[in-house]
Amino acid sequence: MSGNRKEEASRAAFEIAKQYIPGGVNSPVRAFKSVGLTPVYVERGEGSRIYDIDGNSFLDYVCSWGPLIMGHAHPEVISAIREVALKGTSFGAPTLIETEMAKTVCERVPSIDIVRMVNSGTEATMSAIRLARGVTGRSKILKFEGSYHGHADSLLIKAGSGVATLGLPDSPGVPEGVASNTITVPYNDLESAKVAFERFGEDLACVIVEPIAGNMGVVPPLPGFLQGLRDLTTKYGSLLIFDEVMTGFRVDRECAQGLFGITPDLTCLGKVIGGGLPVGAYGGKREIMEQISPSGPIYQAGTLSGNPLAMAAGFTTLKLLTPEVYTQLEERAARLQVGFERNARELGVPVTINRVGSMVCPFFTDHPVTNFDTAKSSNLDMFRRYFAAMLNNGVSVAPSQYEGMFVSAAHSVEDIDLTIEANFNALKSL
Ligand code: PLP
Repeated sequence: MSGNRKEEASRAAFEIAKQYIPGGVNSPVRAFKSVGLTPVYVERGEGSRIYDIDGNSFLDYVCSWGPLIMGHAHPEVISAIREVALKGTSFGAPTLIETEMAKTVCERVPSIDIVRMVNSGTEATMSAIRLARGVTGRSKILKFEGSYHGHADSLLIKAGSGVATLGLPDSPGVPEGVASNTITVPYNDLESAKVAFERFGEDLACVIVEPIAGNMGVVPPLPGFLQGLRDLTTKYGSLLIFDEVMTGFRVDRECAQGLFGITPDLTCLGKVIGGGLPVGAYGGKREIMEQISPSGPIYQAGTLSGNPLAMAAGFTTLKLLTPEVYTQLEERAARLQVGFERNARELGVPVTINRVGSMVCPFFTDHPVTNFDTAKSSNLDMFRRYFAAMLNNGVSVAPSQYEGMFVSAAHSVEDIDLTIEANFNALKSL
């Protein structure tokens, strides 16, 4: 694989796509714009690997940007989807699997008494914010710089993920009146959050936070940060929303809130709970959630919400996520981290690796990375060259310094060791 990557078919496919799809892609970072390359067109995935239309294969750490914690085309997930599809794809009427899914989520996630399914992480956060505004009667929200919570207007302010990758400050098209209701402070900076509460506390409907930031690269919360937010929101009568779209069922069977022992008022989920199909969810305290229609007045709906195929894929994935799987994920991801750190040391390349469970992020900087500003101290030119070299060495990582790697249950010890070898070759070539 090394050095022989073919890309003629992908190049041709991208040229045609650009005629019909804005930028050739249906989600911006997929275009590989920030790394100056042509996107790889995937033909199929199996276990830890993806195969492209040029005949290359890659060990994949994008895992569809997080959902595929059991790996590509897991046989049990595929057979559950197939079985359900044979009976019909959507009814717009209740099905039994929706309740089974909801029950499992409620049993596992400490803060969730009751949960509503939607179709994406964006829908989950957007709906949770409407709910927070509706129950508190307040307009403003507090979020953190470099955090990404989907592309709803009020959340596209100082956002991470693709917005950061493309170097956009805020998106055109978000009205000033909406933007002015979003207060932002640096991640892991409790003092700034306190100052924001002193100034706006009576108007703040909620704080929305990624309990482990995953859209400025991976940035764990500093000790006391999440507890401090819990205390502040309680003191001022605001709601605390954990956006666990990325971390939910990724870092722990009880999500990040179980790992850190902090209980928010509302939790947003996505990615893993859809098992690779489009799903989001938001849930929390019963008395808050029952303010949603039809039990309450705050409106939220969806033609395909609770879709049977998506529920089958998600429910099967959750069933497969036993405590043993999380132990294995931790061991494999730790092995990857240790190997990458050894390579960087040996080759004298400045790399700082942040990791929580199976979320791993090598930053090209020798500073500790604790917020968006320190993440931005990374050498993006080095990342670009590293990304291309990893592809040429048969490993697919996200085409941005501001995204982590996702280790899946399908990554074997041998896969991890091959990845460490690819990383060595890539770092050496910089
Ligand atoms: N929240 C977080 C923390 C995310 O990482 C993402 C997507 O990456 C979203 C929300 C938005 O989810 P979706 O892309 O499914 O709309």
